[in-house]
Amino acid sequence: MAERTYFDWNATAPLREEARIATIAALKVAGNASSVHAEGRAARSLVEHAREQVANLVGADAKNVTFTSGATEANMYALTPAIEIGGRKEPRDRLFVSAIEHPSVRSGGRFAAEQVEALPVTDDGVVDLVALKTAVARAVRPLVSIMLANNETGVIQPIAQIADTVHAANGVLHVDAVQGPGRIDCDVDALGADLLSISSHKLGGPQGAGALVRRGDIHIAEPLIRGGGQERGQRAGTENVVAIAGFGAAAIAATQVDVRRMAALRDRLESDLKAATPQAVVFGAGVPRLPNTTLFAVPGLKAETAIIAFDLNGIAVSSGSACSSGKVQASHVLAAMGVDPSLSRAAVRVSLGWTTTEADLEALLTAWNKVVSSLLNKHANAA
Ligand code: PMP
Repeated sequence: MAERTYFDWNATAPLREEARIATIAALKVAGNASSVHAEGRAARSLVEHAREQVANLVGADAKNVTFTSGATEANMYALTPAIEIGGRKEPRDRLFVSAIEHPSVRSGGRFAAEQVEALPVTDDGVVDLVALKTAVARAVRPLVSIMLANNETGVIQPIAQIADTVHAANGVLHVDAVQGPGRIDCDVDALGADLLSISSHKLGGPQGAGALVRRGDIHIAEPLIRGGGQERGQRAGTENVVAIAGFGAAAIAATQVDVRRMAALRDRLESDLKAATPQAVVFGAGVPRLPNTTLFAVPGLKAETAIIAFDLNGIAVSSGSACSSGKVQASHVLAAMGVDPSLSRAAVRVSLGWTTTEADLEALLTAWNKVVSSLLNKHANAA
């Protein structure tokens, strides 16, 4: 392949060297982690070591980490009415999710559709705290699911404040923290998250592993996948030891990212893009955002066409629109922020990572000048 520059870290991060080494080493372990013989114990020890590493990333107890196939599964597993607290059954009567959640949360997990309610966000993409407070007051035992940071805009939600509101209403808070590790602090106690989902491949581990982390004495009474007694009876099925070992190694490395360097690159990128194309709009620019993400739109540009043009120029970026069944749909995140559909169809997301360099930015800016001016001319001529 010709030289490529990757700017789609929010979709998946390249495998870290530490994770690659741990994954390959785990491939050589023959046992099933549930077997009692030496081979089985070797596999078990990889899983338990990774559990400690993942727990360390989010400041949790290792016994409160349940491995899953990824964050989609962790979200489905977490979003259930069947919650116990301190050994008592405390079933949840309503689920509140923000309008900008990932589809795996917006789908409502294991709640009936009529029990699920979407909460609005402000024009900046931050959850409306007044609406949240009013909504949770209407429920007896609410479960609330709010993401730590949005995967499209990078906007960070005020989780600690949200946790106070939810707890004051006898609620339980689930946080989809998939976009957090390696970018912002994800400590479960500091956040006040009772349940927290993370995903291996977003932080430099292999695809196919994730975790739901519990805090305190919260217990999910109904596993999503039933069968064998793996994961303390919480998730049946032979563990994906190879992916879990890589996940653990990546979790440790994620605590050592130079976040300031990444933020400085992103800020430079935004100012250079604005200088080249003054009409560009950066979404969520007025509120705290992840240090690696920028979602912007140039009026008149078609994001699908721009992404293909960038790809042909060796640059991987993505659109702010979700693509399902081959059909590009307007972003539900931008719709919830009140963005006009014609502008949201122009949204392009650039997400950086720990190996992004100044030279990568130069490559993007060179392609930008070429792609954007030619596409804008083309669209103008067609109009
Ligand atoms: N939540 C968010 C915010 C995400 O960005 C993603 C991945 N796009 C997921 C959940 C799903 O994670 P996974 O790919 O591990 O299922």
